[in-house]
Amino acid sequence: MSTATSKVRTAMVIGGGIAGPVAATALLKAGILATVYEAYPSLAEGIGGGLALAPNGLAALGIIGADAAVRVLATPVTGTVMAVGENTRRLPSLAGVEPLQIIGRGDLHRVLHDRAVESGVRFEYGKRLVGVTEAPDSVTARFDDGTAATADVLIGADGVRSTVRTLIDPKAPGAAYTGMLGFQGYVDAGPDLDPEPGVMTFAFGKRAYYLFWKMADGRVTWGANLPSKQYMSLAEARAVPAGQWLRTLRDTYAGDRPGELLANRTTAEDLDITGAIHIMPPVPHWYRGRMVLVGDAVHAPSNSTGQGASLAIESSIQLARCLRDLPDATSAFRAYEGLRRERVERITKRGARTNSAKTPGPVARKAMHALMPIFFKVMNLEKVMGWEQRYRIDWDAPAVIGTSVVAEVS
Ligand SMILES: Cc1cc2nc3c(=O)[nH]c(=O)nc-3n(C[C@H](O)[C@H](O)[C@H](O)COP(=O)(O)OP(=O)(O)OC[C@H]3O[C@@H](n4cnc5c(N)ncnc54)[C@H](O)[C@@H]3O)c2cc1C
Repeated sequence: MSTATSKVRTAMVIGGGIAGPVAATALLKAGILATVYEAYPSLAEGIGGGLALAPNGLAALGIIGADAAVRVLATPVTGTVMAVGENTRRLPSLAGVEPLQIIGRGDLHRVLHDRAVESGVRFEYGKRLVGVTEAPDSVTARFDDGTAATADVLIGADGVRSTVRTLIDPKAPGAAYTGMLGFQGYVDAGPDLDPEPGVMTFAFGKRAYYLFWKMADGRVTWGANLPSKQYMSLAEARAVPAGQWLRTLRDTYAGDRPGELLANRTTAEDLDITGAIHIMPPVPHWYRGRMVLVGDAVHAPSNSTGQGASLAIESSIQLARCLRDLPDATSAFRAYEGLRRERVERITKRGARTNSAKTPGPVARKAMHALMPIFFKVMNLEKVMGWEQRYRIDWDAPAVIGTSVVAEVS
C-alpha cells in the first residue's frame, strides 16, 4: 500500500459491479480505506451474458493485479468480421496490442470481487443507497435498510441509472435509450454453423444488428440488438416470457444468414434478456462536494463501442490515483475529470454513430453494402482505434490538475 498525500483517508463506494470493486482496490493501493456497498443481497454470480474487454481495459486491470485471472477465464478474439447481409469482410486489426478478451459477466464480477477482498476491501450487500447527509469534513450515506455509513468521500459506481448522479445534481440528465433491447443466446448449431474459433462477426441483418462467436465449449454465442420503440427496463423486459421474446427475435431475423438459424435454434432456457441498451449524454457535473461519479454512472458509451467496462475500469484507477496525489477531494475530483472527460465523450460519440448504423432504413442499408469496400480501403485503423486501445495509465506518475488526456500512451 503506498501512502496517499491526500487528506482523504476513507471512501464509500456505491455499487459492486465492475467500477466499484476496481475503484475500491485501487483506492486501497493508494492508501485510502474503501468499503463497497451493493444493493443486491449477494455477489451476482451466475448472471448471464459475456462482455469483451479491450486491451486498454485489461492493461488498467493489470495495475490492481486482476488481469491474469481474467485472461485465464476469457476467450481471446483473434479476428473480427463485418457482415452486411451476405457480404462479409474480415476487419483489419491493430498491430502490437493483445486481442479483445470475452469473459462471462458473472466470472468478471467474481474475479474483481475476489481481488478486492484479497487486497482488504470490505463488501456490504443488501445496501441500496437512498440518500446522503453532507458535512464539511465527511459524507454520510443512508441505505434502504435504515442503516447509514460515513466516510471522507462517496464514490458513485452505481451504474447507468445512478442514484448518486441525481444526489450530485438533481437536474443531471438520465441515460438515453438507444432504441434497442439486448439479448444473448447460446446455440449448439453443430455443422450447420461452425464459425472459425476466436473470430467475432458483427452482422447487419435486414431488420436488426447482431453479433456472434464460437465459445470454448463449441457452442455459438450470439447477441441481438432488437429495435424497439418501446423502452423497457431490465425488470420489465424480464417479466415478458422468454418464449415470447424468441418469437419476436425469430420474426426479426427471418431471412438473415445465419441470424435466422441462431434465433430458431435458441431455446427459452438459453436466452438471456439483458434489457434496454443505454447511452449517457454528457454529464455536466461529475462531482460535487465529497461525492463523485465513476463508470456507467457518468459515461456509459453504449455496447456498440465494446468499451463500457474498459472505460469504467480506467476511470476507477485514475480516480484513485488522483485521490492519492491531490491534497483534497475537490482538487482530486477536478484532476480526475480533466483526465477522463474528453476521452470518454469521444468514445461515446463513436458509439452513437455505430448505433445509428445498427438500425438503418432500406436506403441506408443499400448504401452500406455499396460503401463497405471503399470504407475499409480508406479507413485509417490506427487513427480510429489506436488511441482508444493503446491508452495506458502510468500509476506511479503523480496526478496533477489540468491534464486533458485523450490517449495517455506509454
Ligand atoms: C447488452 C450489453 C452488452 C455490453 N457489452 C459490453 C462489452 O462487450 N464490452 C464492454 O466493455 N462493455 C459492455 N457493456 C457495458 C458494460 O456492461 C458496462 O459499461 C459496465 O457494466 C459498467 O460497469 P459499472 O460498474 O459502472 O456499472 P454496473 O456494472 O451496472 O454496476 C453498477 C452496480 O451498482 C449497483 N447499484 C445500483 N444502484 C445502487 C444503489 N442505489 N445502491 C447500491 N448499489 C447500487 C448495481 O446493483 C450494480 O451492481 C455492455 C452492456 C450491455 C447492456
